[in-house]
Amino acid sequence: MPPILHRLTEKITAIDLQFQGRPEVIAAYLFYDGSEAALIETGPTTTVETLLEGIQAAGVPLEELRQLIVTHIHLDHAGAAGVLVRRFPWLRVYVHPVGAPHLADPSKLLASAARLYGDKLDSLWGPVVPVPAEKLVVVNDGDQLKLPGTNLCAFDTPGHARHHHAYLDMRSNLLFTGDVAGVRMPGVRYVRPPTPPPELDIEAWVASIARLRAVNAAGLCLTHFGLFRGNLDWHWDDLEHRLVDWGQIVRDQLSKGATDNAILERMKTQIATEMHAQRIDATAYDVAVSYESVVAGYIRYWKKAQVG
Ligand SMILES: [Zn+2]
Repeated sequence: MPPILHRLTEKITAIDLQFQGRPEVIAAYLFYDGSEAALIETGPTTTVETLLEGIQAAGVPLEELRQLIVTHIHLDHAGAAGVLVRRFPWLRVYVHPVGAPHLADPSKLLASAARLYGDKLDSLWGPVVPVPAEKLVVVNDGDQLKLPGTNLCAFDTPGHARHHHAYLDMRSNLLFTGDVAGVRMPGVRYVRPPTPPPELDIEAWVASIARLRAVNAAGLCLTHFGLFRGNLDWHWDDLEHRLVDWGQIVRDQLSKGATDNAILERMKTQIATEMHAQRIDATAYDVAVSYESVVAGYIRYWKKAQVG
């Protein structure tokens, strides 16, 4: 597959990782100042060759890549970090303090992913290699990272995961949102909340949305997928309403004693109806975040809330 690049600014390029052979599912963002390069997100191991071809197609020699910054450690965002460090041992991986131990020892992360993906785990994400602890750089809320040609400011933004950062590029004022700004396809006015188990936290997510809204970014760079400018309040509203609405539907179903399977069917109908009403092609949304993970995340959230 020939590389697909989207030039965002003079120094920032989005590389389309063409996950599962599809464009516009997973992006990695490349920063380059002519002598050193950095990435926000590595994508999974299954797309590592596409990533490396993309970096070179953007005119960056691989030996100039220095920093891997991941918004969180889920396999579609950071799965390739260990493989990349093994191949290019000078790389450093920048990660949230809660996520760092799971990059050094991915066994719990993989067990959690195996519950979600079953026998598709390996074909979707590929092997996950530990990142040696000495290659990790722990990033805390408010930290500023020195990147080629700019600084990035880290925002602790829990909700989708406990260990999630968004990053504001201080030069372009673009905000790199990982999954906290949801999933949205280019040119489409519909934001799907990716709500996987086990760390979904609706209240924390709503607070993270308020925090990032207040940043007044010039644009949002979503991992799924791409740069959105214009009316960002609309984007945040759409995400927040749906995140809360879907949570309410799942909660009502649980209180009526519905089975997990019945809730899944109910939500499939809900989502299909919403998207059909707007004549949106759901395929790329479904590849980026499955119905199963959306529903499993909400169910676990409400069951935890009940116990707690
Ligand atoms: Zn994701």
